[in-house]
Amino acid sequence: MYICITMLLLHAHTVFPVASASITDGAVVVDGHQVVVVGPFYQLCHKYSTAEVIDLTGSVLLPGLVNAHTHLELTHLKGLVPYDGDFRNWLECLTNQRRATQIPLSEIIAHACRESLESGVTTVGDICFQHQAWQHLAREPIRKTCFAEVFNRDSNFDDQKEFLQACIRQTRTDALLRLGLSPHSPYSAGPHIYQMAGELSQKHNLCLTTHLAETPDEGKIISEDVISWKQIMMRMGRIYDSKTPGRRPVDYFLNLDQSERAYVLAHVNYLDDDELSDLARSPHSVAFCPRSHDFFGHAEHRFREMMDKGINVCLGTDSLASNQSLSILEEIRFLHRRYPDLPGETMLKMATINGARALAWDDKTGSITPGLEADLIAVPLTNTDNDPFLNILESHTTVKLTMVRGTIIFKDNEGNNF
Ligand SMILES: [Zn+2]
Repeated sequence: MYICITMLLLHAHTVFPVASASITDGAVVVDGHQVVVVGPFYQLCHKYSTAEVIDLTGSVLLPGLVNAHTHLELTHLKGLVPYDGDFRNWLECLTNQRRATQIPLSEIIAHACRESLESGVTTVGDICFQHQAWQHLAREPIRKTCFAEVFNRDSNFDDQKEFLQACIRQTRTDALLRLGLSPHSPYSAGPHIYQMAGELSQKHNLCLTTHLAETPDEGKIISEDVISWKQIMMRMGRIYDSKTPGRRPVDYFLNLDQSERAYVLAHVNYLDDDELSDLARSPHSVAFCPRSHDFFGHAEHRFREMMDKGINVCLGTDSLASNQSLSILEEIRFLHRRYPDLPGETMLKMATINGARALAWDDKTGSITPGLEADLIAVPLTNTDNDPFLNILESHTTVKLTMVRGTIIFKDNEGNNF
């Protein structure tokens, strides 16, 4: 149900604006699409006495969560792509399952968006493999950057022109849609693809993303002519580029990309100390996908060292071919179980403002700040006496209310008392 609203005053047990200190017994005033003011309820309730009050006093209020790396078009593959320890087999199985599906893409995308919004995700960075998903995604009331995924076979970008022009046209009138380009990875998209993506990004101000250093043998894939990879890429209809220079993946990428445009680098599971230092001097962000990372049993991710060095690290779910849900709230609950000493504030930033920065949506969303658009979620507390953020990390409560750009997109019942 989509409810049109004017001025609202959301009253919560605690407001976590992220860009400023949390406020106990806090309130957020929303007028139309925007946040007008954030502050203590007792101050705002008098000043905005005509606003409609939404009672969320049993919940915390957070900025909408950002899923910076996902593949919504694979949402129907949950549990259908087993992993036997060989990433190539997994990728081939995924490709076969994708080809065999009878479910219309429109249904898959609508389901994925509903699941995202109901779990508190208000912004997605979505990889669109066949360049069709964006048309369905564009109809959904979620904030999105649709990344057109490109491979070596798209060598001259001619096939992309129509798609790019249509998508760029739509972004002019659609406040929730932005367009991006995603060269798939250095082993499936050669230097010319990255160069063209950089040029197009510059020309049309498009966001960029790529998969990088996802598997331990990616260095070999880039530096050697690994026959099994060549075969598998060809079976998947992709041209394998064996002419790439022999380098480690992050080092290779940093030398490959001359555009100076910031990328969202998905995964970056494997890098050495030199690459880590070089990455810290670049404008790129890293999208860490904790539960997908765990699914594949990768080596310990270096996201904490990355953040210590100033790299912007955000969160993604990746696709449901390697995860159980599209919930970023579940990602931070997983992180809390895995790293109990990781501060809640750090996780909250990774789940919100860092993702908005990575996707260049931070001019509109990522924190509860006057002047930004109102992407808000309410998460109920099971115990109002404890530290409220710790409470939502250690409980299993589900999101009660999701607002995107000032419109309540989802609430879990018709009542007003959460
Ligand atoms: Zn991915």
